[in-house]
Amino acid sequence: MDLVNYKIEDKLNNIELKGVSSSGSIAFGYINFLNKNKNSIKRKIKEDEIESEISIFEDTIKYLENEFQNISNNLNYEFDKIAEIYEMNILLLKDPIIIEEIKAKINNLYSAAYSINSIFNKFIKQLKSSEDLLLKERADLIEEIKDLLINKITIKDINEFNPNDIIVSKSIDTKNIFNIKEANASGFVCEEGGLTSHSAIIARAFNITSLINVKNLIRCSRKGDFAIIDSINGNFIINPNQETINKYKLIKEEFDFNYNELSKILKKESKTIDNKKIKIKSNLDNLIELSEYNVLNSDGLGLVRTEILFNTKEIFDEDFQTKKYTEISQKIYPNEVTIRVFDIGSDKYPDGFKFKESNPALGVRGIRFLLKNLSIFKKQITAILKSSELKNIKILIPMITNLDDVRYSLQIIDEVKSSLTESNIKYDKNIKIGFMIETPSAALMSKKISHYADFLSIGTNDLSQYLFAADRTNQECSKYLNNNSPILFNLIKNIVDNAHKENVEVSVCGEIAYDINFTRLLIGTGVDELSLSFSNIPKIKNELINSNYKDCKKMLEDFIEKES
Ligand code: PEP
Ligand code: MG
Repeated sequence: MDLVNYKIEDKLNNIELKGVSSSGSIAFGYINFLNKNKNSIKRKIKEDEIESEISIFEDTIKYLENEFQNISNNLNYEFDKIAEIYEMNILLLKDPIIIEEIKAKINNLYSAAYSINSIFNKFIKQLKSSEDLLLKERADLIEEIKDLLINKITIKDINEFNPNDIIVSKSIDTKNIFNIKEANASGFVCEEGGLTSHSAIIARAFNITSLINVKNLIRCSRKGDFAIIDSINGNFIINPNQETINKYKLIKEEFDFNYNELSKILKKESKTIDNKKIKIKSNLDNLIELSEYNVLNSDGLGLVRTEILFNTKEIFDEDFQTKKYTEISQKIYPNEVTIRVFDIGSDKYPDGFKFKESNPALGVRGIRFLLKNLSIFKKQITAILKSSELKNIKILIPMITNLDDVRYSLQIIDEVKSSLTESNIKYDKNIKIGFMIETPSAALMSKKISHYADFLSIGTNDLSQYLFAADRTNQECSKYLNNNSPILFNLIKNIVDNAHKENVEVSVCGEIAYDINFTRLLIGTGVDELSLSFSNIPKIKNELINSNYKDCKKMLEDFIEKES
């Protein structure tokens, strides 16, 4: 059905809800809800379904056991505690008492998902009421396993998106964003979420039209209602009248025309009117985007987020990684590719892989995780080095907070290099190694880090989060997560100056780089490179080639002096 030419009777409601524009532009479609697992659990079954429900249950247990085993096999470093958790998960998963009770419940004509839910809940309740702290913690583990099992059984419901769907939900995870892309659905709208959360980043990478933080969304939405997402101005219109539909058709036409016009400038050199060169590179968050690389030409890939790049459990496999990094390097050549090693933790976990921390953003994420799980780190470095024959790959290390981690990372990379040399395997001996500046401590010692670095990359998503102590995934904190702040720009300017004193180049790869409101201020800091989502490159490049570096420097100086 041609949604743009859809005609609707004037009598419908035309409800307009306000939200925060997250990605894309204007989309038309029909509301469909993201299935909540609880709603999709079938309760009763017929007698002739018992056998198939028991095998669904047994297959799911086997599937999860394999998943846990795969992960724990990759976590064999001696200090690693996480492997132990996965081993424990397997034991809990195979607990004979739980298994027998669930089977008995299925035999009593309850579905597999329903039986898992009720038997697990019984044990969780018992453990939670215990005085013993260890048992209480065990209850959390069992709860996670229960969710994983039920998700696995009911996940097919979540996949059922149609091309004209607008997905409405409280929040959304990255897996469902892939599903939306795959189904070519119109877009999604959420009640919660943060602009720099990884779901939002991936939606931007796919250029899916979306809105977040829409109050009263669920209450006002009905399945099947026609709606319009306006992610240019932050509106969600449910049951629009004909006048509103016509208005948005015009806005969409204008937006598409401007976008196509802007795309024509991509072949121009990335420099200001007064010849300050600033490379405009793309972030790569998934392999599907790579196919668009020729269309939206950029100066290379400035940030490859490897932890979310592959939607597969082979993510830690060395051969798999080598194949993929080699493909990327060849595709982008002669331009450069900055491959960031796994930044696992906080709100980013590969599929099926999660560990519990009380405060994950301040926990064992990024390089901290890799230095505790050296087998994963070494395999990834080996894969990157083996893919580096074209000499266009750079390595980037995330979540640096001290020089010990800088030195230890370099030591590990040297060890991997030596073993490849001993085995006569070819790789780029002078591969560039850089560090992310995304914590206040790294920013304050950026000069010292520059001694060890070939380049720096400023991750403003985390830098703002840690600088202003504001959770980047929580929209309620957005007024504190203040990119529009003289303090942040002063810090960025200092990092750039410090690095330049050591002849080290600096990139900015956080979401601030796609926001046209900040482009001139960023140019004014003297930064050498901006890296952002593919879809926003025409807009930002246009701003760059129409700017004057001297004016931008002056603008930044004035801005830094302001109180707010
Ligand atoms: C950042 O923190 O700004 C960044 C680019 O890394 P990520 O968003 O993946 O944490
Ligand atoms: Mg970061």
